[in-house]
Amino acid sequence: MEFPTKYLIIVDPQNDFIEGGSLAVDGAKKAMERLSFFVSQNARYYEKIFVTQDFHPENHCSFTENGGTWPKHCVANTNGADIFPKLKEVLADKENVVYTLKGKDVDVDQYSIFSLKDGDVTNKYGKEMLEELQKNPTFHIDICGIAGDVCVLNTANDLVQLIGADRLYILEMFTASLDGGAKLRDFAEKNSIDLI
Ligand SMILES: [Zn+2]
Repeated sequence: MEFPTKYLIIVDPQNDFIEGGSLAVDGAKKAMERLSFFVSQNARYYEKIFVTQDFHPENHCSFTENGGTWPKHCVANTNGADIFPKLKEVLADKENVVYTLKGKDVDVDQYSIFSLKDGDVTNKYGKEMLEELQKNPTFHIDICGIAGDVCVLNTANDLVQLIGADRLYILEMFTASLDGGAKLRDFAEKNSIDLI
């Protein structure tokens, strides 16, 4: 009999970040296809699979038209904010999946589901997620998703501060970055985190 011994965090596997979307990252489709197959084969080894989603109001502050950095993306309840279809299908019949939302407030951007401020987790989904991750302090935490140098990096960095780097593994083959992966690799090296 097999028991789960780890957690999986999938950061923002959403249509707008994938080729064809409004803020597409090169290689995201390939990464999400590989991840979908992996999850179909390995979901049972995970105590919980957390999926984070960028979920913005129409007039969000991060959009260039509102003075922000990014093209309009992941507007709540649109196809762009929805999960990559193949992954969505694979996750649909799994009972250990937890969906979490970030960037919902119009004037706050949240790259990380934890969105640490002065050491405190400011996102309510992030708070619940942290409590779960702390329940099994020996379990490994695998993290992957899009974009590697933005939201994956920020989430991983918050995790290092919240629970340390020891349990953390970055699944590089299921991650796509705007910068080709340089920042994430640099972060992993600095914190002695294994890239898999
Ligand atoms: Zn966003």
